[in-house]
Amino acid sequence: MIFKEISNNTFDGLIVREHSEYNHEKVYYYEDPGVSLKSLVAIHSTKHGPAIGGCRFKNYDNFLDGLNDVLRLSRGMTEKNIAADVPFGGGKAIIFANGINKSHDLLKSFANFLNLIKGEYISAEDIGITLEDIQFVGNFTDHVFNNVDPSSYTARGIFYSIKEVLEMHNIPLSEASVGIQGAGNVGFKLSTLLLKEGVKTYISDTDQQKLIIAEEGGCIISKDIFLEKMNVFAPCAVGGILDELNISKLSASFVIGGANNQLLNPSMDTLLRKKNIIYIPDAMINAGGVIGLTKDILNRNEDDVDHELRAIAERVCKLLERSLMLDKSPYELFMSEIIN
Ligand code: NAD
Repeated sequence: MIFKEISNNTFDGLIVREHSEYNHEKVYYYEDPGVSLKSLVAIHSTKHGPAIGGCRFKNYDNFLDGLNDVLRLSRGMTEKNIAADVPFGGGKAIIFANGINKSHDLLKSFANFLNLIKGEYISAEDIGITLEDIQFVGNFTDHVFNNVDPSSYTARGIFYSIKEVLEMHNIPLSEASVGIQGAGNVGFKLSTLLLKEGVKTYISDTDQQKLIIAEEGGCIISKDIFLEKMNVFAPCAVGGILDELNISKLSASFVIGGANNQLLNPSMDTLLRKKNIIYIPDAMINAGGVIGLTKDILNRNEDDVDHELRAIAERVCKLLERSLMLDKSPYELFMSEIIN
């Protein structure tokens, strides 16, 4: 078994702290050949509390590919936890999934990795890791959030934000239309909340089964969600979808969705602004997930949690007001305020 902090070391031919995305406190590497586990934990910041963030079980081309992902995602968690106003820092874990089984032995060994880090990082689920997986890991370590599926909280935070932004612009929900990309955990739950309020709701997914269920619920299936005539586009599938081509198709007034890292790169925010499309930073909008995850550790009951989810929408509206006043995009303002 190998367990080491690699921030200041040369590892796999790389000096980790010289990586362009490295502005972290620590990066740990763990390898357990007995169960084919290779894993990284990046701790971006513990300034506001222990680092929290999900664990991804994903194929990576090589060590650098995995390092790129974990560094980018852990920084995003710091932003998200500040946006969610929870007393935690940002971190993330990845497991190199290439050709291996996500066995119980592997998950148990991952728990050992978390124990060796001694609570500096607390893990939750992410792509490729389910709530059941993290609950299993929780049998062997205290350093996991295994209490809830965060997606319903994430969806509610997005819903409140859409509602408030539309009301701020005098658009009644019953006359509004929203296009959701992704009918997964978050997207489907968001569609249910919107449909209840009479919102015309378009949805797209690459998985036909999910579309059938969404259509039964009252959604309109879309072949190209970017082309729909809608007030709000809500990306709830994958990152990087706001690129030049998709933005050129978009006629929505607002982008308010839960997917992480929606902008292909920061210059896409400028492109959206040129088209008068208001993009609300995803780290702000999808903060409901961490609010749900941390509710028990912070002794919050469901009323407290609902209050916090509505507070996301209040912060969004205040950001929009400042954006108008200072003639800067919400993204630009959010990033400068988060960093300072
Ligand atoms: P999910 O895997 O349950 O759903 C994602 C859905 O997107 C799937 O149904 C998938 O088939 C679909 N999809 C993939 N590519 C697509 C494409 N090109 N076009 C249309 N659909 C596509 O994931 P989720 O938990 O619903 O999360 C959705 C997004 O929100 C992810 O980016 C995730 O990182 C982010 N997020 C989720 C939470 C949470 O609480 N689950 C919290 C914060 C952020």
